[in-house]
Amino acid sequence: MKLQNWYEVKEISPDIYMITEGMRYKCFLLAGKERALLVDTGTGIGNIRMLAQSITKLDTEVALTHGHWDHVGGVNLYEKVGIHPLDKDLATSEPHPMMQERPQKFIKDWKEEGYLFPPNFSAKDFRVQACRVSHDLTQGDSIDLGGTEIKIYHTPGHSPGSISLLDQASGILFSGDAVKPKEPQYAHLPGSDLNSYATSMELLASLAPDIKGICSGHTEPFYDPSILAEMAEGFGKAVSGELQPHEVDTEWGKLKEYSFDRFSIWIR
Ligand SMILES: [Zn+2]
Ligand SMILES: [Zn+2]
Repeated sequence: MKLQNWYEVKEISPDIYMITEGMRYKCFLLAGKERALLVDTGTGIGNIRMLAQSITKLDTEVALTHGHWDHVGGVNLYEKVGIHPLDKDLATSEPHPMMQERPQKFIKDWKEEGYLFPPNFSAKDFRVQACRVSHDLTQGDSIDLGGTEIKIYHTPGHSPGSISLLDQASGILFSGDAVKPKEPQYAHLPGSDLNSYATSMELLASLAPDIKGICSGHTEPFYDPSILAEMAEGFGKAVSGELQPHEVDTEWGKLKEYSFDRFSIWIR
């Protein structure tokens, strides 16, 4: 892994780069033979476009897995940006309607831990900006990068317009925040919905034979797609009431949690 200014960059598969900031926020740059795709754009604290251009000179468009602040921060550095229509309002409203306090918390914690920000970054002026987006990405769409095609699946539940992207060449699923192996799945946010989350998990579990790895916006690459069936089953039990949640203290306050071996689910 190589540190480039604010970003950590790791080539996780040929021509697929995982870009991590703040040890927590991940986006992915996929370089095809003709075009490149940036899956999410991070927090906006650094300049993701400058970084991406240092990795590939190909024309690069953006696909947003969803509209939350930590995925849309660098969007306005790009002209061609796709998002699912159901998360468009979330991403394009001014001010960004959700989680203005989350970036401030991250910035405060990062500073207190003694870590640095990129040069020219002004913590006090930082805020999540409304995004300019150029087109819709919906179920069944695909993005041809030359040499590989990226298939789009609508996987709502974490947010209404969450999508997952499957790279046909590598078999890597870019799940945004919809699938986070070994972590809580966030179904407690405004716009989250447990029922549609469960349906999305069934869809993703049905794709498992074509999936080799799962790359989320926050977790390390995970190479056991059998977790998708476990998640589908777990969400099914939560929705049917077969399993009861217990109360849990989190950084989001008191929530309810369904616990399983390799993941959990948080609801409000
Ligand atoms: Zn999210
Ligand atoms: Zn996120």
